[in-house]
Amino acid sequence: MLRINQLRLPVDHTREDLYRQTEKLLGCQEIQELKIVRRSLDARKKPQLFFNYILDVKVKNQTAVYRKCNRQKVQIWEEKPYQFPYAGYRGETRPVIIGTGPAGLFCGYMLAKAGFRPILLERGRDVGQRTKDVQEFWEKGILNPESNVQFGEGGAGTFSDGKLNTLVKDKYGRNREVLSLFVKFGAPKEILYDHKPHIGTDVLSQVVVNMRESIQTLGGEIRFQAKVTDLVGKQGRIAGVVINGEEQLQAEYVVLAVGHSARDTFEMLYEKGISMEAKPFAVGMRVEHPQELINLSQYGQKKIEKLGNASYKVTAKASDGRGVYSFCMCPGGYVVDASSEPGRLAVNGMSYGKRDGSNANSAVVITVTPADYGADHPLAGVVFQRKLEEKAFRIGEGQIPVERYLSYKKGVMGGEYADPEKSLYIGEEFVPSVKGKWRYAPVHEILPPVLARAFVEGMESFGRAVRGFNDDSVLVEGIESRTSSPVRILRDEELWSSLKGLYPCGEGAGYAGGITSAAMDGILVAEKLSAHIIKKEKADQNTKETVYGKERFDR
Ligand SMILES: Cc1cc2nc3c(=O)[nH]c(=O)nc-3n(C[C@H](O)[C@H](O)[C@H](O)COP(=O)(O)OP(=O)(O)OC[C@H]3O[C@@H](n4cnc5c(N)ncnc54)[C@H](O)[C@@H]3O)c2cc1C
Repeated sequence: MLRINQLRLPVDHTREDLYRQTEKLLGCQEIQELKIVRRSLDARKKPQLFFNYILDVKVKNQTAVYRKCNRQKVQIWEEKPYQFPYAGYRGETRPVIIGTGPAGLFCGYMLAKAGFRPILLERGRDVGQRTKDVQEFWEKGILNPESNVQFGEGGAGTFSDGKLNTLVKDKYGRNREVLSLFVKFGAPKEILYDHKPHIGTDVLSQVVVNMRESIQTLGGEIRFQAKVTDLVGKQGRIAGVVINGEEQLQAEYVVLAVGHSARDTFEMLYEKGISMEAKPFAVGMRVEHPQELINLSQYGQKKIEKLGNASYKVTAKASDGRGVYSFCMCPGGYVVDASSEPGRLAVNGMSYGKRDGSNANSAVVITVTPADYGADHPLAGVVFQRKLEEKAFRIGEGQIPVERYLSYKKGVMGGEYADPEKSLYIGEEFVPSVKGKWRYAPVHEILPPVLARAFVEGMESFGRAVRGFNDDSVLVEGIESRTSSPVRILRDEELWSSLKGLYPCGEGAGYAGGITSAAMDGILVAEKLSAHIIKKEKADQNTKETVYGKERFDR
């Protein structure tokens, strides 16, 4: 293959244009195969917009063609697809996986495909029933603490924007494997090459079901409403788990992929003496803008069919040095009530595959560290989150509290910030796009003053990068408290916790942040776990043969 590492075309180009430009760049007419490896948007000359492509091209007489090419732009390339280290396991050992979020599901799928017939335990319900539970919560405010936006088949990411980009470096090809599996189970193929791949909730729910069915066909088992409430250890090694406080399931290999909201499970692990530590994360508020305002800022135009709605990423430093940044931006999306505990309210964002809602939203968050949690305890971050969520619940009277930015700013900074010019930009007819019940309320009272000030400083700075970002009518909604896990469950180079045979995995354990990186960590743990089983069974076999050999000899 010849890899073209940069080809630029206007966004409204046709497929023929792509072929013609490629032929021109290679100086040949016989393209046998053309594969888009990467497509990213270049808006530096907006409203003129371009796509930058990386392409893999198969041509006749490749050597001759390559000889004439500009080596800056063209290289000889050989794809090295990801390979799971094991296949065809026929033994009796069945790993147990706690949680069916991306980490648990991808771990389960890789192990099932290799023949290990894993048992996946999920405290929540299957995605079909879960969707009804979430709808009921959003429409009637009836929360099911075990089946909600955080808990249930597919994990936290199921009701999300389904953004699949990750900053995790990947020299083993696990990232690509995750995206390829998403496509295998029903996601659009564009995620394989889009700079910012996303699939949306409607597609993700079906992908999760297809993956579950494939794991079952491969001999795996998935049990819903099966909450692991305790662990059984023997001589420093895991020996089993307890389900729903009653049933004991023997297991020598257990993957702990419980996500960032499994606070009762964190408490159980702490009681069991599993080594863990408090971890930094971020908290803040969701902000909503008219999507057209963001398109205008990013594209220089209010709407471009071919590109869909625009996204943004903004960062700043508050005067006290804390980082303030936009997180989990959802173009054409919704702010959702993502609570999982009665009397505590947390928000997040989601969108459907088309991202065609009228509002854009993201969380504007501020980094917090164990120093902010007010106690030196591994679970102090959970207490910190709960306090903020209780305040949000109280201030919103159980509904999502919403406040206009001008009122928020005055509440935090006093009157020193009124600037009439800006208020003319959006206007009060701009209303929230929310999944769940909401009401206007003094949101500025939720965050501790030092964090609320940092939030305002961030917003003011972002207003200089994106016109109207800090407009008086912008909607501020809270609290965004579950940006990642407040705790890390320590694991060694064997990926074992302080209890051998227990594998902390994914976001909840503190080793991932987002759908793709959680899935990648699931694959990493599957590799390690399968190696451990194979190695142990080989050793057991050798011991048996030695003993048998010796017995026979002695006889
Ligand atoms: C509304 C929302 C939108 C998001 N949007 C995005 C996005 O667009 N892109 C992105 O990359 N990330 C997004 N995220 C974050 C992403 O969902 C998580 O990073 C990812 O799901 C973490 O995967 P995980 O498998 O580690 O944990 P989770 O997905 O949290 O899964 C953990 C699973 O374990 C189960 N569980 C917990 N305790 C137990 C127990 N004791 N016994 C049995 N089962 C248990 C839970 O029910 C859950 O299903 C979003 C999150 C939310 C809530």
